[in-house]
Amino acid sequence: MRIRYHQPIPNFYNFENPTSPLNSISDVFLNELKQFILDNGFIGVSYSKLSDDFKKEWDIDWDNILILKYVMSDEIIKMNPSKEKTKLEDMEFQEFAHKTFEIADFLRKNNFKADLIHPLDDRVSLRSIAMQSNDCIITRSNMCMFKEGLNLGFFMIDTSIENFPFKKENDMLWVKDFCSTCGVCIDRCPENAFDDDEKIKRKVCTAHKEGCSKCVLLCPFFKRGYDKVKRRYDRKN
Ligand code: SF4
Ligand code: SF4
Repeated sequence: MRIRYHQPIPNFYNFENPTSPLNSISDVFLNELKQFILDNGFIGVSYSKLSDDFKKEWDIDWDNILILKYVMSDEIIKMNPSKEKTKLEDMEFQEFAHKTFEIADFLRKNNFKADLIHPLDDRVSLRSIAMQSNDCIITRSNMCMFKEGLNLGFFMIDTSIENFPFKKENDMLWVKDFCSTCGVCIDRCPENAFDDDEKIKRKVCTAHKEGCSKCVLLCPFFKRGYDKVKRRYDRKN
């Protein structure tokens, strides 16, 4: 049983999926969709194309995934761990969940199939789906990091759209090398929540119970941002 970081999300759909969904999006409508997503407070989008092997491994039949990324509030993330903090984190999560349903409805109204991939669904790892986007990386602190920052949350929509601009290569793999020379997150974790193989011990980590964010706050990617860390890394290598 996976550890829950959030309360269940109610179903907010107002429209049904179309009976004969379109599977191709025009450049014009893709731009309109991206604008609609930004207008709803998300910071950007990524796209994952799931391979047959991936789908077989996870026993799913989704192909074309739209990833909606939002910045988690700096103010909340910097709060000391407390029940109040986890409550605020969940409120922010629920707000963006609601917006994700609106974006799915926007797609449905425009004749595309669109279903929220439920973040609390135990059948599949959203991080594994995110990694198929070639637009993020799993850090040594076990966070799924996109270039927009370490403090991102994301939702996903399974769509009928087969021609999203899927990235073919991941240009963030250098982060693994950078992390191998850092290790601050592991050294300074107040709960010693990483095992000998640096896997996070979910039952020990207090992020879900009290909203600990220390490994995020200490990370150079949070403090300086992805681009600055990358520039410094490039100068040294
Ligand atoms: S603190 Fe250092 S090792 Fe940990 S995720 Fe950040 S860069 Fe990587
Ligand atoms: S969230 Fe806190 S307890 Fe969990 S791994 Fe990070 S620093 Fe450790």
